[in-house]
This record gives sequence, structure tokens and C-alpha cells, in this order.
Amino acid sequence: MDFDYDLIVIGAGSGGVRAARMAATYGAKVAIVEEFRVGGTCVIRGCVPKKLYVYAARFRDQFDIAQSFGWHVDASFDWPTLVAAKEKEITRLEHAYASNLEKPGVEIIRDRAEVTGPNGVRLVRDGRELSAKYILVATGARPFVPDIPGAELGITSNEAFDLPRLPHSILIEGGGYIAVEFATIFAGLGVNTTIIYRGDCILRGFDEDMRRGLEAGLTERGVRIIYQTTIKSLAKTGDDVTATFSDGVSAPYGVVMFATGRRPNIDGLGLESAGVKLTEHGSVAVDEYSQTSVPSIYAVGDVTGRAQLTPVAIREGWYFAETVFNDNPLKVDHSLIPTAVFAEPEIGTVGLTEAEAATHGDVDVYVSRFRPMQNTLSDRTERMIMKLITEKDEGKVLGVHLLGPGAAEMIQLVGVAVSMGATKVDLDRTIALHPSAAEELVTFKSPSYSYRDCKRV
Ligand SMILES: Cc1cc2nc3c(=O)[nH]c(=O)nc-3n(C[C@H](O)[C@H](O)[C@H](O)COP(=O)(O)OP(=O)(O)OC[C@H]3O[C@@H](n4cnc5c(N)ncnc54)[C@H](O)[C@@H]3O)c2cc1C
Repeated sequence: MDFDYDLIVIGAGSGGVRAARMAATYGAKVAIVEEFRVGGTCVIRGCVPKKLYVYAARFRDQFDIAQSFGWHVDASFDWPTLVAAKEKEITRLEHAYASNLEKPGVEIIRDRAEVTGPNGVRLVRDGRELSAKYILVATGARPFVPDIPGAELGITSNEAFDLPRLPHSILIEGGGYIAVEFATIFAGLGVNTTIIYRGDCILRGFDEDMRRGLEAGLTERGVRIIYQTTIKSLAKTGDDVTATFSDGVSAPYGVVMFATGRRPNIDGLGLESAGVKLTEHGSVAVDEYSQTSVPSIYAVGDVTGRAQLTPVAIREGWYFAETVFNDNPLKVDHSLIPTAVFAEPEIGTVGLTEAEAATHGDVDVYVSRFRPMQNTLSDRTERMIMKLITEKDEGKVLGVHLLGPGAAEMIQLVGVAVSMGATKVDLDRTIALHPSAAEELVTFKSPSYSYRDCKRV
């Protein structure tokens, strides 16, 4: 049977772009359909602008510390300058992504796509019906907004980067990494910032010391955190938005932002009519090769709800292309993924948390808390935390959790050692680099404490 294309990719984000580019490199005739901007969430309204804004926010701490080194800093901040500079950079990246697609011959179609069957795609605006031997669903995820009265008065991360002006205050609902990163951004830029979270500590699923350490760091930077409370309704009060909480209290804020999770982008995509099965959480169900219940339809990235991270989407897209277009079946290993939280202080983490490791067997825990050297001339008391979790008696490294300056950069590299199966002995053999924070990881002498038969000793 003849098809218009070998592959139609729906969604030009992290996963879709990589898959399309690789498939075309292997000789496939590929089209990629994008309804918004090439680059997807990460480039346009995720990782990239987020990190740029975190850099902007961090100058506050830097200016503060600079004084202890003899600098006199008289700083002020201009929000429109940051927004315009960000826009310039993401537009540059968007063009680079488009050009990287076009070079190997991928056709970019700027439209919304719907799946009409195992090999059919309809372009919603243009109305054309296209056919392909394979379809790749790479439509990502979108912010979830709670169904409460006045919800439309709140914003999400999609809008936060382009606010017309910096608000005097912001209320951020949520306890995940997006909530704490935006709290870091707005607090750093001088906005009165409050987090409201239904749980009893931010960053559920992270190591407990990281959670408590970040909570302390945010609080020290003026972020107010309200736990075990949710927003019940929003109403307009002049230029402000008044939030009423589950405990009955009401307060006005310049902006209210929902960072209450992300849901797979599958609405109106036609997947059900094509016979594609979903998971109980509403993500596209796939096997280890990213193949759905319909053999000609694959899915990668956030829409599959595996790990909602750019490098994971990229790897899934790449391995899909290897498997289907290069006769080289590859499965992504989702078990060891280094991740960072670009908050202030920053977190880097790989492997098991202490609580997880303790239930897996006998483990040793090494913890070091110290003032980062750049703070020692100032009156800042904040501590860096470095935690190493190993199998007992200098065995395999199971988890590394870092909080403080440079944590993200460190964890990427230590992640190499962990994924190679490094042991405590391997770390001990490594000569320290002095003076650095990272040297703590190779100079731990004896465990701070251990777990034997699941009990802390
Ligand atoms: C604020 C924020 C910060 C983040 N920070 C990080 C970070 O620091 N590190 C990290 O690793 N990850 C981060 N992420 C997550 C990361 O952005 C995602 O994991 C990644 O973009 C997923 O890639 P994807 O290809 O699955 O989907 P996306 O990049 O979301 O791309 C999907 C694309 O599909 C398009 N689309 C959807 N439906 C259709 C349709 N029917 N027809 C045509 N096009 C369609 C969308 O417009 C979009 O461009 C962040 C996310 C957010 C929101």
C-alpha cells in the first residue's frame, strides 16, 4: 500500500523533533505537524525560559554575597528587558530547531493534527487527509488547572513568562518542581511570593533532606509556604485576584498561578477512534519500544506519562527512530535518571532516596552539611547538603542527593558513575579536587548512619 509519508510526527517538541530528524537521516520520508511553535514546551515555555529566569533571579543572592567580597552594588531590575531578551533567545532556538529538521528533509506542517485511523492524519485547519506507514504521537502535556470557581483568573507556567508586568505579589499553588522553581524566580525578582500546597512538604518523591533543605532555603529567601491547604475559589478585586482557601481564609494577590501538575495532551486527537489504548492515568499506553496498542502508531515523551523530562523524551524519540527506521531495536532505561530542581538552593538527584533505599536492603548513608565557600565571608548560614547512599560495607552507590550551588552540574557527572555501577570504593579511589564542594563525595570516611533490616542504626 502506498502512503504519503513513511512517518508523520504529531508535535514538534523534544521527542518529536528528535524522532523526525533521526528517521529522516535514515532515509524515511517524514512530515512533522506542529500547532504552536517548533521546539515545544522545553524551548518555548519550559526548561529554557525557566532556566534563563532562574539566572535572572539568582543575581539577588549574588549581589548580596558580593558585598562581603568588597563590592558595592546598586542594582535594579527591569522585567520587560528580561521578557524581550528571553523572546529573542527562544526565537533563535526555534529557528535552529526548524532548520535542523529541514536539513535532512523533514517537511514541517504548521497545523493541528488529528489521528483518523492506524495510518491516517487529518490537518484540522487545512482540512487535508494525509497517510503514513507510521504515526508518532509526541504531543506532550499541558498544565492542569483545578475546576474551581474563578479558575480562569489564574495563570499557569504557560503565561508566567510573558506577564505584562511583574506583580507585587504571587500565590503559587502546587508543591512540585515547577512550583518551587517559579517561587524562586518571582521571589528572586522581588515579588512577595507564597506557595500553597495540599501536602505537608514540597517536592513529594524527593529525598527528605532535600525537601526540608529546600523548604528552609525558600523560607530564608522570603517565600511563605502554606501547607495542607488548597485554593477553593478566585475572584477579581480591583487589579488583584482574591483567593479563598480551604480553611476559609481569603487574601488578595497580584497574580495567582496554578502549578498543579500536567496532563497528557490527547484531547481531540482521535486516538480512541483509532483504537489506541490509554493508561488508567489517561496517558498513551506504550510498550518498551514506545509502540501503542495499534502497531503502526507509536508515542514518545510527556504524552506517555513515563518521566516528564526533556532528555527522556529525546531519548525515547531517538530510540523509536532506531527501532523502526534503522533496524536497531532499542529500549530506554527509565530506572536511573539524573534530575535537577533549579530552585534556590538548587537540587541535583540521581537514584534511590534514603527512604526507598532503606526498604531495599542494608544500606549506609553518608551525609555532609557545610557552608558553601562562597558564603563564608558573608553572614549567610545556609548549609549545602551532600548525601550518598550505598549498599552496606562500601558497596554500590544507590543514590546521590545534593542541595546547594552547582548541584545540577555535579549530579550530571556523578550520574555517569552511578549508571556505570560505581561503588563507594570507586569513589574513595578518586583523588579529590580541592577546594570544591564536589570533593565531599570522594572524601566521606565512615557512614553517618546505616539501615539494617529496614531499621536506622
Ligand atoms: C515550566 C516547565 C519547566 C520545565 N523544566 C524542565 C527542565 O528543567 N528539565 C527537563 O528535563 N524538563 C523540563 N520540563 C519538561 C519538558 O519541557 C518536557 O518533558 C518536554 O518538553 C517533553 O517533550 P515532548 O516532546 O513530550 O512534548 P512537548 O515538548 O510538550 O511538545 C509537544 C508539542 O506538540 C504540539 N501539539 C500538541 N498537540 C498537537 C496537535 N494535535 N497537533 C499538532 N501539534 C500538537 C505542542 O504544541 C507542542 O509543541 C519543564 C516543563 C515545564 C512546563
